[in-house]
Amino acid sequence: MKSYDLIIVGAGPAGMSAAIAASRENIEILLLEGSDKIGRKILVTGNGKCNLTNSYQDIACYRTETPDMVLRLLDRFGPSQTAGFFRDLGILTRDKNGYIYPYNEQASTVRDAFESCIGEKKNITVRTGCHVDEVLPGRKGFRVITGTDTYTSTSVILTTGGYAGPGKGHDGSGFKLAGIMGHGLVPTYPALTALKSSAPFLKKVKGVRNQAKITLNIDGEPRYREKGELQWTDYGISGVAVFQLSRYAVIALEEGKTVSLSLDFLQEMDENQLYEYLCVQINNCSYKDAGEILKGFLPEKLTPVVLREAHLSVHDKLHQVSSDKLQDLVRSIKSFPLRINGYLGYEKAQVTRGGIPMKEVSDQLESVLHKGLYFAGEILDVDGTCGGYNLQWAFSSGNVSGKAAAEYIIKAKKR
Ligand SMILES: Cc1cc2nc3c(=O)[nH]c(=O)nc-3n(C[C@H](O)[C@H](O)[C@H](O)COP(=O)(O)OP(=O)(O)OC[C@H]3O[C@@H](n4cnc5c(N)ncnc54)[C@H](O)[C@@H]3O)c2cc1C
Repeated sequence: MKSYDLIIVGAGPAGMSAAIAASRENIEILLLEGSDKIGRKILVTGNGKCNLTNSYQDIACYRTETPDMVLRLLDRFGPSQTAGFFRDLGILTRDKNGYIYPYNEQASTVRDAFESCIGEKKNITVRTGCHVDEVLPGRKGFRVITGTDTYTSTSVILTTGGYAGPGKGHDGSGFKLAGIMGHGLVPTYPALTALKSSAPFLKKVKGVRNQAKITLNIDGEPRYREKGELQWTDYGISGVAVFQLSRYAVIALEEGKTVSLSLDFLQEMDENQLYEYLCVQINNCSYKDAGEILKGFLPEKLTPVVLREAHLSVHDKLHQVSSDKLQDLVRSIKSFPLRINGYLGYEKAQVTRGGIPMKEVSDQLESVLHKGLYFAGEILDVDGTCGGYNLQWAFSSGNVSGKAAAEYIIKAKKR
C-alpha cells in the first residue's frame, strides 16, 4: 500500500490546477485519472479553441446557491490570476470582446502545457487508467481504492467533474464517492445544452442561423431573456443564447412544467414601428408578395414559417389583408412561439447543474464533514454561463483547494 501526502482524484482542469498549486509545497502528490489521458475534456472546449475565461465577471455568470462564497473565491483567484497562471505555463492569451482564449486559439496547447508542467514537477506522480472506486476516510487520513491498488494519504481532493461531456468517463462517480462519505447532492441536470421541439417546420429550417431575442416562458409566464444567434436544427434549437437559457428550461421540464420560447426576430423595432414599417413597404412596393417583403429582414427559409403562424402565405399580397391580420404578422415576427418538449442530454451538454452543495464545504473548499477532504470544479454545485466561466471556476477552485490542502498537510506534519 503506497502512501502520499495528497491524492487528487480526476485530472481535469480543476484537478491539474490543484496539483500544480499544491506542488509548490514540499509534499508528495498522486494525481489519479480514470481515462488514458489527463485533461482530455479541454480538447473539446470552445469548439477546439478553449475559451479559458472572461474579462467580464459578474456573480450572475455563476449559478449557485452560495454566490457570496463564489465571489470570495474569485477574489482570491480570478481571471487576472488565470492569465498569470497561463503566462507562467508559457501560454499567452487573446481577448476577443472579453472572451479570453489561448493566443493561438488551440485547446490542445492548453492541455499540453498542463501535462508538461505536471510532468516536470518531481513531487507529482500521475497515474492514468486508474478509476477510483472508493475513498474511505479514517482517523489518520484516507484510503483511496482503484481497481488494482489501494493508496493512503493525509488529504484528498475530489475533482471528478460531473456527467457532462462527450464520450465515456463522465459517470458522476465523484458524486457517489462523496455520497458514501455522507455528502449530499443538489439534483443534477444537463446545463448549457440544446432544446428540443416537435414543431413540424423544423426540418425545413434546419441549418438556418439568425439573431433573436429569446424569452423563456415557464407555465406561460415570461421568466428569462437572452439575445444572440439562434441555430435551427431538425430536432429543435441551439446556439449560445439557447444554451444560456437551457438550465432553467431543463429544470422546468423535469418538474413537469410547460416550457416555450417567444422569439423576437426584429429587436430593433417595437411592434408599432414594425407595423408602420410594413405599411410603408406595402405602399411603396405593392408589387411584392408577403414572402419578398419579409425577406428584407428574415432568412428566406424562415419566412413561410413566420407567415404561416399569422395564417398567411408567401404568395399573399399584404395590401389585400386586413389590419388585424397585419397585426398578427407583427406578433409572429416579434414573439414567434416555439413549444419546447425536451433537451439534449449530458453527452451534448457543456456542464452539469447541481452537485456537492457549497454549504457542505468551507471557504477553503474543505468538507465540513471530513478534515482534509476537499472538492473543486464541476463536482461542486456551481455552473457557469457560456463564455469561459466554467473553466474559470475549475481554475479558481482548483488553485484554492490545492493550496489549502497543501497547508493542511504541512500543519499535520508538524503535529
Ligand atoms: C463540448 C464542451 C465545450 C466546453 N467549452 C468550454 C469553454 O470553452 N469554456 C469553459 O469555460 N468551459 C467549457 N466547457 C466546460 C468545462 O470543460 C468544464 O466545466 C470543466 O472541464 C470542468 O473541469 P473539472 O476538472 O471539474 O472536470 P472535468 O474536466 O470533467 O475532469 C474530471 C476528470 O476526472 C476524471 N474522473 C472522473 N471520475 C473519476 C474517478 N472515479 N476516478 C478517476 N478519475 C475520474 C475524468 O476522467 C476527468 O478527466 C465545455 C464543456 C464541453 C463538454
